[in-house]
Amino acid sequence: MRYDVLIIGGGPAGNYLANLLARDFSVAVVEKKGSFGGKACTGIIGAENYERLGLPEEAVLNELRGAVFYSRIQNFEIERKSPQAYLVDRKALEKSLAERAVRRGVDYYMATTFRGFRNGKAVLQHLGERLEVEADFYVGADGVNSAVARAIGAKTKAEFLSGYEVEVVGEFRKDFVEVWVNKDMNGDFFMWVAPVNEGLARVGTLGSIEALNRFLRVRMLRPTSIVEFKAGTVGFGWRKPWVRGNVALLGDAALQIKPTTAGGIVFGMLCARALREALLAGKPESYEKLCGAIKNQISFGMRFRRIFRGMSQEDIERVFEVLGSREAREVIESQADFDDHVKTAKAILRRPKLLAKLIRISPSIVRYLV
Ligand SMILES: Cc1cc2nc3c(=O)[nH]c(=O)nc-3n(C[C@H](O)[C@H](O)[C@H](O)COP(=O)(O)OP(=O)(O)OC[C@H]3O[C@@H](n4cnc5c(N)ncnc54)[C@H](O)[C@@H]3O)c2cc1C
Repeated sequence: MRYDVLIIGGGPAGNYLANLLARDFSVAVVEKKGSFGGKACTGIIGAENYERLGLPEEAVLNELRGAVFYSRIQNFEIERKSPQAYLVDRKALEKSLAERAVRRGVDYYMATTFRGFRNGKAVLQHLGERLEVEADFYVGADGVNSAVARAIGAKTKAEFLSGYEVEVVGEFRKDFVEVWVNKDMNGDFFMWVAPVNEGLARVGTLGSIEALNRFLRVRMLRPTSIVEFKAGTVGFGWRKPWVRGNVALLGDAALQIKPTTAGGIVFGMLCARALREALLAGKPESYEKLCGAIKNQISFGMRFRRIFRGMSQEDIERVFEVLGSREAREVIESQADFDDHVKTAKAILRRPKLLAKLIRISPSIVRYLV
C-alpha cells in the first residue's frame, strides 16, 4: 500500500485535513479506536469559524450567545444577539467529517494503531495483525500524547493538565455558558458549565478531580445526577518542530491549543489549512510559518497563563471589577472574538480608562498582555 499522505489519528484535526487533501492527493487515515468520539471535550467551537471551516450542521447540539462570569463574590454577563459559539457532539463531528472524506476518496483504517516508522514506512497494528504502509508524507494528528511526535524526536516544553468533565442533569440557561474563576476552588484553571439544553450541561475544569467535586458542590449539582464522566489531558506550550523531513504534526499532537480556554479544535483545523497550502506548494517546511497567526495566539495564551498563575483571588476580584464595568462589557460585547483572544485583549487595552485601571491592579498584567 502506498499513499501520497498518511494521516495518523482520526480526530477533528486529522479528519478535517483528510477532506482538505482529498482532491489533490491520495490520502489514508489511520485511527486507533474502533469508533469516533469518546474524548473528554466540551465541544464548544466559535460560531464564525464553524461556518467558515464548513463544519457539519448535524453535529451542533446547542447555540450559545452569552456568558456569565462568576468570581468568588461578583458576577457579570456578556450577551450577544447572535450565537457566538456552538456546542457540538464530538462523535457526530468526527464521523461526519470522516464520511465526507471517504466519499472524496480517502481510505480509512479503523482500529489500527501507529507503532512507529521503519525504513521510511509506517508500522501499523490492526487487531493482531502488523502491516506496513508507505507514503510520501506523514501527518501525526494523534493527539496530545502523540506517538508520531515521539517517533520524530520532537521536543516538548509545556504545562500538562488533566481535564475532567461530566454531563449532569439540572436546570440551566440554554444559551449561556457559565465561567467560574475562583482560586479557592481551583488554582489551576476556571470551571465551566456549558448547557447542552435546559436540562443537561457539560461541567468541567482542568487540574484535579477534587477541584471539579468542590465546584459541583458549590454550584449545587448533585454527583448522583451525573450521567457521563470523562477525563483527558491538555498540553499548553510548545512541541517542536511541527515538521521534520516528510513528517508533520497537527492539532493537539503539535499542542495547537488555546492556553486561555483549552479550545483546540479550531486551531488544529486552521493549521490543517496551512499544511495543505504548504503541501500543494511542495514546501512542507513552510507549514510552521503559515501557522504564524496561531503561533501568536499560543504565545499570547502562554503569557495569559503566567499572569493567571501569579494572581491571587483578590487580584481576580479587582480584574472582575474592571471587566464587569459597563465600558468593558460594551467593548467585549461589540468586539470580542471567540477564537482571537489577542484581538479581544487589544480592544480592552485600547480604552484609556480600562488600561489605567488594569495598570493600577498590576503593571505586569498589561506588560505581559501586550
Ligand atoms: C476536558 C476537556 C475539554 C475540552 N473542551 C474543548 C472545547 O470545548 N472546544 C475545543 O475546541 N477543544 C476542547 N478541548 C480540546 C480538544 O479536545 C482538543 O484540542 C482536540 O480534541 C484536538 O483534536 P485532535 O484531532 O488534534 O486530537 P484528538 O481529538 O486527540 O484526536 C487524536 C486521534 O488520534 C487517535 N490516535 C492516538 N494515537 C494513535 C495512534 N498511535 N495510532 C492511530 N491513531 C491514534 C486517537 O484515538 C484520536 O482519535 C478540551 C479538552 C479537554 C481535556
